[in-house]
Amino acid sequence: MNLKTARIIVLILCGLGIIVALLFPPTIENGHSMYGVQTGIFLILLAVVVGIFGIRCPHCGRSVFHKGGGDFCPHCGKRLDEKDDGSGGEKRD
Ligand SMILES: [Zn+2]
Repeated sequence: MNLKTARIIVLILCGLGIIVALLFPPTIENGHSMYGVQTGIFLILLAVVVGIFGIRCPHCGRSVFHKGGGDFCPHCGKRLDEKDDGSGGEKRD
């Protein structure tokens, strides 16, 4: 999974989580069921997990999820949208 794909998946999961939680709130009709809210929270937590493990610098391999959507890796300083050409950074399997 590359960086761009991971970011898109995280955004979709967060959006779905919020939408599900808002569309299925606990109401009197459904007996104050928290099922919709729980599903929404689960989707957002899943987005966080995908973000932590999927949003990584292509050069040094370290997680950049918590650094927001910047263009440069805060660890090695290289551009996040460039492919690793093997001229620098450490390889990770
Ligand atoms: Zn890096």
